Amino acid sequence: MLHDHPLAPGPAPVAVRLARLNAAIRSVPEPSIAQAALAAALDPMIAGKVALVSSFGADSIVLLHMVSRINPDLPILFIDTELLFAETLHYQKQVAALLGLQNIHVIRAPREELFTHDPEGLLRHFDPDACCALRKVAPLAQALAGFDGWITGRKRYQAGTRADMPVFETDDKGRVKINPLAHWQPGQAAAYIDTHSLPRHPLVDKGYRSIGCAPCTTPVRAGEDERAGRWRGRGKVECGLHQGAENDTSDDRGQAA
Ligand code: SF4
Repeated sequence: MLHDHPLAPGPAPVAVRLARLNAAIRSVPEPSIAQAALAAALDPMIAGKVALVSSFGADSIVLLHMVSRINPDLPILFIDTELLFAETLHYQKQVAALLGLQNIHVIRAPREELFTHDPEGLLRHFDPDACCALRKVAPLAQALAGFDGWITGRKRYQAGTRADMPVFETDDKGRVKINPLAHWQPGQAAAYIDTHSLPRHPLVDKGYRSIGCAPCTTPVRAGEDERAGRWRGRGKVECGLHQGAENDTSDDRGQAA
């Protein structure tokens, strides 16, 4: 039996929040899971204080659009590695203005950290894991410290490492992690963008299907996975933001969706 703790300070225990989130989508038909998961995640009485982490990449506008319809004041964390495409920086501002997103936090590594560990901006060449840790993982960890949960746009089909990803999980800090699009299939995000007449990231038309830092992202060819252009030829498939997140896969829609 789960117990709420209405008089206890702070959010409910993570197991309680995870159970509440799962209950919110348990009888929801698959086409509506994304919206139902998001609505539950944005209810502070269910999930606590959450933020959306967005790269403003190829599919990002889907969740940004859904969030804007529920709560345009939701904190949105945008990691600017200072090695992004100029098109991404422009698109971020365009989308924020279009959707009326009021609460975007631009996250960057501290100057002194960059100066100490990557003074010439070349760390990516000889140690891309360390570069991602410096420019993405550590700044996001710092930014998430004040939140009880975070929302991501990851999908199962994108990589073997995501094949079993549930809609709700916990990270290694005991936060809930919400993946409303976990069950989406290839082409579904593009269809959503078309249906709602939303602007595409300008690099999509140039063959970029997953868009990260400029030095580590290339277009993909026909027949390739959409993330094949990330760290091409480097033997690296994830930036490290999501490592350690799969502590709890108690999402009962995890495999069924
Ligand atoms: S994606 Fe490349 S440039 Fe960006 S943080 Fe990671 S290694 Fe560095």
